[in-house]
Amino acid sequence: MPRRTFRIFVELEGMYRNIVEQLVLHAVNNGVTKFTRLKAERYREVRSLYPQLPSHYAYTACQDAAERAHSFLRMKKMGRARKAYPEVRSVSIWLDDRLWRAEGLTLVSLATHRGRVRVSVELNKHLLRYVNRGWRLTWGARVKLDHRDRRLVLYLTFKKEVSEYRPKGYITVDVNEDAEAVLIDGLVYLFETDLSRITLGYYYRRKSVHERYDKVYGPGSRPARRIFKRLSNKERTLKKEIRWKLATLIVREAARRQAAIVLERLGKEPAKNMMERIKDPQLRYRIFQAAFKGMQRAVEEKAREYGVPVIYVDPRNTSKVCPIHGAEIVYGKDRHGVCSRGGETWHRDVVGCYNLLLRALGGDGGHAPSRQRALIPVDGGPVPLGPTAAHEPTGVPRALWARWRSLGATSDRKLMRVST
Ligand SMILES: [Zn+2]
Repeated sequence: MPRRTFRIFVELEGMYRNIVEQLVLHAVNNGVTKFTRLKAERYREVRSLYPQLPSHYAYTACQDAAERAHSFLRMKKMGRARKAYPEVRSVSIWLDDRLWRAEGLTLVSLATHRGRVRVSVELNKHLLRYVNRGWRLTWGARVKLDHRDRRLVLYLTFKKEVSEYRPKGYITVDVNEDAEAVLIDGLVYLFETDLSRITLGYYYRRKSVHERYDKVYGPGSRPARRIFKRLSNKERTLKKEIRWKLATLIVREAARRQAAIVLERLGKEPAKNMMERIKDPQLRYRIFQAAFKGMQRAVEEKAREYGVPVIYVDPRNTSKVCPIHGAEIVYGKDRHGVCSRGGETWHRDVVGCYNLLLRALGGDGGHAPSRQRALIPVDGGPVPLGPTAAHEPTGVPRALWARWRSLGATSDRKLMRVST
């Protein structure tokens, strides 16, 4: 962008930042987290502060500030806020339908304190993919200044009408710290994710960097900080890729079968029996976020993209009770257990998946025995669910499923080799 045009946006950013900073301060001081209340209390003052600014920036700044205050106050409540006030560090300017419009695919017009400015845009592949798939642009957008390359980065929002279908079946997903058990067509696949192992690995690497560097340079030194930054970038990218790929695989299978996805309803914090071996509460929380919450969020987001419905059920005791007899399963050392009534063997993840399915079918999400239990064929043999289903999950290592685009891409022979 020419220097002179870019300067207009630098001025705009400065004013916008100033407004947001003041609004956030007011919101946090008075416990305001709702945009409407913040606007009611401060709109007039904000308008008089910069009368030359198009009035809608006052609206969007209120929305921006309300969201910042909301998340800050929530973190504070949870005891995770480090400072007394939130810092407004990076700013992206929120826009609405009055502040910007696209003129075809090559020009964008933005309202500023110096009148409307037209900017030519460069499209990227990601955007074209959405446009080609029938997504439509909405007016919600943000713009961020890239001072180094003197350009604007525009963040757009797309929407698409999808009719959520009436599910013909269910795919249940039982998230674990290092694997994800998925019940598809009567088979339980155990997709390795290693999310807990990766989190732990990076945790110990950071710890050893801490110990080595603090001895030489003192705590919080610049070289150590540089290494931490690189490590956390690597960690984040790797986890994101794992979650994204697996979520896509699962959601595609659900869409192909017109099935709904069943997930367990997780709390805000890890449940007591999750990751018992990890004592450090902060580390437990990190793993919970990475492996449980993060994985579910990826599935939810993909499901939204494909119009696949997601159902949540109560996860209490889903791996403790036999899906056939409703009796307790007594587990040994590994993940195998024996039904206390029928005497059949179960794998913990298979039990979890089937019980999630039963709860989804029962529709109550509670932990009372479901009437639907009788609908699952029971043959009474030592192998549960009869010859039509496996009682042992089919383990799939990450290196293998990461290359799949669908389950159909796998020949049975490949799977057999994996499970033995
Ligand atoms: Zn049983």
